Amino acid sequence: MSEHFDFRNELVSENDKELDRQLRPLNFGDFSGQTNIVENLRVFVKAAKMRGEALDHVLLHGPPGLGKTTLSNIIANELGVSLKLTSGPVLDKPGDLAGLLTNLEERDVLFIDEIHRLSPIVEEYLYSAMEDYRIDILIDKGPSARSIQLELNPFTLIGATTRSGLLTSPLRARFGIKLHLEYYDLDVLTTIVKRSAKILNVKIEDQAAVEIASRSRGTPRIVNSLLRRVRDFAQVKGNGKIDLDITRFSLEALNIDQHGLDEMDNKILLTIIDKFKGGPVGISTIATAVGEDSGTIEEVYEPFLIKEGFLKRTPRGREVTELAYKHLGKVKYGDSPTLF
Ligand code: ADP
Repeated sequence: MSEHFDFRNELVSENDKELDRQLRPLNFGDFSGQTNIVENLRVFVKAAKMRGEALDHVLLHGPPGLGKTTLSNIIANELGVSLKLTSGPVLDKPGDLAGLLTNLEERDVLFIDEIHRLSPIVEEYLYSAMEDYRIDILIDKGPSARSIQLELNPFTLIGATTRSGLLTSPLRARFGIKLHLEYYDLDVLTTIVKRSAKILNVKIEDQAAVEIASRSRGTPRIVNSLLRRVRDFAQVKGNGKIDLDITRFSLEALNIDQHGLDEMDNKILLTIIDKFKGGPVGISTIATAVGEDSGTIEEVYEPFLIKEGFLKRTPRGREVTELAYKHLGKVKYGDSPTLF
């Protein structure tokens, strides 16, 4: 299990980063899936443009790799403005934030990734910036210290978070548009595989595209990573074309789970089966047993396991399903193996 290829991690090489840039959709039309979100955003963007105003602040919430950064780029493109990118942990001093904010042109977009990790002091400064487009900054130290007020250009803040549960309520309340990204269906993921293959200029069979999509944990970022690796295998071990055989061979070699589950997904299911007789068991007990934060399990891992039918929520806690036993080759507690 430890040999699992970890596709959630940062992209491995500069080359992969460059490919990632090529694969990123640049407008709403290229962005597959999340239909509701995209339809709503189209309206909000159009309305803001018609009024010549900055778009209201947007909070994008959802597991990693589902397109939060991509959507932010698209919003800025569609608004015809620039995008500045930063992230919660990087902005550790109010001065850093002030520098970014004062450099924004009228109606620009400021994207803050992992916004739940902002320091409380920086967050405090953000409030007046978001609400009144102004910030108070303290200059000088000691007795001559005084605060001056800086007017900012109207701008749009887009905050992205995998853990909306960790956002403070004053911050959350300052976002006029709050959108939750869901895991993608097989059909949409298959479309993304084909679109990416076309951009990478590699031929792919329909069945191979479905196979890659079905092992991608409902996540476009994983789709693209798997596609790049299968493309390598097709080039070296095959004739360059991606067919079902070379796809299966590559995914096997990379140790990719049949259902696209990753190491932590499997660990959660196995723990519930082996230590808690399949459940029901409380989320904090599971969290302690697998050594992960219970909020992360609830917001990042569990939604996918539930969506795919491996886990269910009951009033008494989480319970694994028949499918989980089957997937892990386990026998249900109390069921004796059938002997012939
Ligand atoms: P997040 O910010 O949510 O972690 P990203 O926006 O960085 O995710 O998306 C990861 C990669 O997946 C992007 O580089 C992009 O190429 C691809 N991607 C994400 N969403 C879509 C989509 N709806 N359609 C096509 N490609 C997508």
